[in-house]
Amino acid sequence: GHPALAPFGTTIFATMSALAAEHGAINLGQGFPDTDGPPEVLEAAVSAIRGGRNQYPPGAGVPELLEAVAAHQRRFHGIDLDPASEVLVTVGATEAIAATVLALVQPGDEVVTFEPYYDSYAATIALAGGVRRTSVLRFPDFTVDEASLRAAFSSRTRMVLLNTPHNPTGKVFTRDELELVCALAREHDAWVVTDEVYEHLTFDGAEHVAVAAWPGMRERTLTISSAGKTFSTTGWKVGWVSGPADAVAAVRSVKQFLTYVGSGPFQPAVALGLGLPDAVFTGLASSLQSKRDRLVDGLRRAGMAVSVPQGTYFVIADAAPLGAVDAVAFCHELPARAGVVGVPVSVFHDDVDAARTLVRFAFCKEDAVLDEACRRLAALG
Ligand code: PMP
Ligand code: GLN
Repeated sequence: GHPALAPFGTTIFATMSALAAEHGAINLGQGFPDTDGPPEVLEAAVSAIRGGRNQYPPGAGVPELLEAVAAHQRRFHGIDLDPASEVLVTVGATEAIAATVLALVQPGDEVVTFEPYYDSYAATIALAGGVRRTSVLRFPDFTVDEASLRAAFSSRTRMVLLNTPHNPTGKVFTRDELELVCALAREHDAWVVTDEVYEHLTFDGAEHVAVAAWPGMRERTLTISSAGKTFSTTGWKVGWVSGPADAVAAVRSVKQFLTYVGSGPFQPAVALGLGLPDAVFTGLASSLQSKRDRLVDGLRRAGMAVSVPQGTYFVIADAAPLGAVDAVAFCHELPARAGVVGVPVSVFHDDVDAARTLVRFAFCKEDAVLDEACRRLAALG
C-alpha cells in the first residue's frame, strides 16, 4: 500500500461491520440509521432519475444545491455565502475533508486536531504529508485542556481540523472552547476547517455554534457538512464545503482529480431537503435524544459508566466492568460472545492509554434493536 497509509490499514468501520455480518450481530459499530429519512427527499431523488438527470452534473455541484447550501447556512447559522464561488459540492464530507487537507496542507505543515478524532483525519493528513498535532479530550467530560491545546500549536501550524458536534465523543464544543480554538488559529495565522456533519443532531438544548459565523473567522474558516446524518442518507454520499472563494477554488481544483463530480440525481434531492421546515430538523434531533436516553440507561443497567452525549448519534461507555482490559480485543470478541458490535475508541487516538477500555456505541437504531443489544450486554456482567 501507500507508505503514508501503512500505519492505518483497514478502517475500523469496515472491520467491525464485516464482523457484525459474520456473526449476525447487532451492529452498533458503524454509524448509520436503520430507518429512512424524510420521504419527500427520497421521492425527489427518484423524480430526478426519472426526469433524466443522469449525466455528469457541473463540477461545483448543481446550481440548486449550491443555492440551498447557501440558504441553509444563512437560515441556521447567519453565514452569508455566494453560491457560485463560495460553495462546493463533494462526495460526502469524506471527500470534502480529503480535498481540503490536500489543497491547503504542504508536506511538513502541522495540523492541529483533537483526539479521539474521526479516522479519515489522520489518514488524510498523512496522505498530504502533513504532521498531526493533537490535544486529548478525556472521558467522561471530554472538556478541552487549554495547556495541551496551546502546546499543539507551533510556528508550523497550517490548519486546525475541528469537529463539532464531535464523533466519537458526542461532545458539542462550548462557546468558550471555540473562542480559544479561534484565538489560537488567529494567533498562528492558521486555517480552521470545521466538520459539522452532526450540526442538526444536538440534545438537551445544547447549542451548535458554527465557527464561520464567529467574528473575524469567516476569512480563515472552511465549513464542511453532509446530507448523510441530516437526512439519514449515509449511502448517498452528498457533502459540501463552504468558505472564502480563493480557498474553495483550491479545494475544487483538488476535487476535480479525486472524483471530478459528485452523483447527479441525489443533489437536487438534497437541495429540496435543506429547504424543509424546521420541524424536520428538530424532529430528528428529538427522536435521537430519546434513543440516546434509551441506550444510556441500558448501558448503565449493564454495569457500564457512560458519558452522556449532547450531540451526534454515538455514546462512549467504559467496558471495564464487563471485563474489558483492552477495548480492541474486547470489541473483536464481543460479536461472538454477545452478538453485539461496538467500536474501540483507542483506534481514534494517538495516546491509546486515554481510551484503553472505552467503547463507542451508535444509537441511530430502532428502539427494539437498542433494547435487545442492552439485554445481551447485561447478560455478560
Ligand atoms: N466526519 C465525521 C465526523 C463523520 O462522523 C462522518 C460520518 N461517517 C464523516 C465526516 C463522513 O461523512 P460522509 O459520509 O458524508 O462522507
Ligand atoms: N461516520 C460513521 C461512523 O463514524 C461511518 C463512518 C464510515 O463508515 N466511514 O461510524
